[in-house]
Amino acid sequence: MSEVTTRLKEVQNRIEAARMRSPYQQDVTLVAVTKFHPVSEMKEVIAQGVTQVGENRVQEMEEKYEFLSQEPITWNLQGHLQKNKVKKAVAMADLIQSGDSISILQEIDKRAGQIGKVQDVLLEFNISGEETKTGIEPDAFEEAVEAAKALPNIRVCGLMCMAPDFGDLEKTRPVFREGHELYKKLQKKFPEGQIHILSMGMSHDFEIAIEEGANMVRIGTAIFGARVYR
Ligand SMILES: *Cc1c(COP(=O)(O)O)cnc(C)c1O
Repeated sequence: MSEVTTRLKEVQNRIEAARMRSPYQQDVTLVAVTKFHPVSEMKEVIAQGVTQVGENRVQEMEEKYEFLSQEPITWNLQGHLQKNKVKKAVAMADLIQSGDSISILQEIDKRAGQIGKVQDVLLEFNISGEETKTGIEPDAFEEAVEAAKALPNIRVCGLMCMAPDFGDLEKTRPVFREGHELYKKLQKKFPEGQIHILSMGMSHDFEIAIEEGANMVRIGTAIFGARVYR
């Protein structure tokens, strides 16, 4: 077994164990975050049954997309989007997780409308209030929901958030707990069943996120090893 496959199995076991500890016992979807990792390694995890991949940059997604167009996978885009990349993002992404401002939601709506698509998106919230992080402020919850509801070419499917790396995972827990609270609030704002994705947890904190109710985790490093930035 290759290193990537071994690590994938380890991650899957840890997801399952965390799920059993969770009071919600929810199903958890793994998004393999493949940014800076080659198509060959993506094919490897796809062969092992991974069905969701996640990229941060539109250009990198575009480079890889054509090599994987025959694969039965769902493409997630989870990096902060520049307005001028939205057209391409909408052409490729099944789920845009980084709906991090009203203006970007409006641009996604516009571009989706132009190609006759209804684009699935998540609202990304900046729960910890870190200035370096993008995301809608929790205080702007109502405003963002109302804005999103007025856009016919997007479908809000849930919520995404990131927690700061405090070094102490128990400090992370309240961030995810608030993510779960916001998720429940969001469910009440949309038709029954529409809000079904709570995307939180990365390599260093996914177990805590699952214990707090995440049903989608985005994991790169723990599967593929450290990214080598070019
Ligand atoms: C890069 C990234 C991840 C994956 O991070 P790892 O620590 O490598 O697991 C998850 N979510 C977002 C938004 C990212 O940018």
